[in-house]
Amino acid sequence: MMFSDTPNLRLVVNAMGLVIPGFKDPLACQQCWGWRELCDNRSLCSSCQVSVGSLGIPPPPVAPITLYAKPSAMRDALTNYKRIGEDFQQRSHDLLASLLARFWAQCSLAIRQQFGEWDSICTIPSTQETPRASGIASLAESARIAAADTTDWVRWTGSRIDPQQSNPDAFVSNAAQLLGRRFLLLDDVFTSGAHLYSASHTLTARGGVVVGCVVIARRINPHFNQYAQTYWDGRIGETPSWENWCNGFTTKG
Ligand SMILES: [Zn+2]
Repeated sequence: MMFSDTPNLRLVVNAMGLVIPGFKDPLACQQCWGWRELCDNRSLCSSCQVSVGSLGIPPPPVAPITLYAKPSAMRDALTNYKRIGEDFQQRSHDLLASLLARFWAQCSLAIRQQFGEWDSICTIPSTQETPRASGIASLAESARIAAADTTDWVRWTGSRIDPQQSNPDAFVSNAAQLLGRRFLLLDDVFTSGAHLYSASHTLTARGGVVVGCVVIARRINPHFNQYAQTYWDGRIGETPSWENWCNGFTTKG
């Protein structure tokens, strides 16, 4: 799909929803832009605190393109966009690829300003029994992101990843020349960060540097508690635009 062929932002936003992360919201986790519990007086949400504990190193910063809750059109698209199984929906794949392409065109400079330059983009493989090219790697290819870089930087070992706990053994990397190479990680869904942080650990253990992560959508559960509900209500009240995304991301904190 050529960029010029992609649906315009209005169509994508109407179909999928674009919910700007709370870059200036005091309820936002400064790491993943989910909600945090103000009462514990830390800058990270409980999931990110657990990840720091299990990996022993601070996880790389995350830039979610959008937040989502379920049920929603975004959630549906994220569950049926992969080119496998009977639930596959081409339209979901195309809309998510459009969202990624538009985001990249509008906001990748802001990402570079905040994270610094990278040498390579590492797409995170699915930990289901699916072909690598079915998920985020396929979206990145359709969106013409990192088209020249098809290296399998990390591979899933089959080791299970608990939703709330990073697993240093979940991925391996057989790639050469990791030492000093700077990576931007790219994934579709961020729930607890366990997948992303596990892959990050594998790359950094081999001498790579992870400057940050871009994810299409960070899951919010407004029903979890009052903080989550208040955070979500504030997010959906903000006007969705790429300008607002970039302004928020580059002036956060
Ligand atoms: Zn967090």
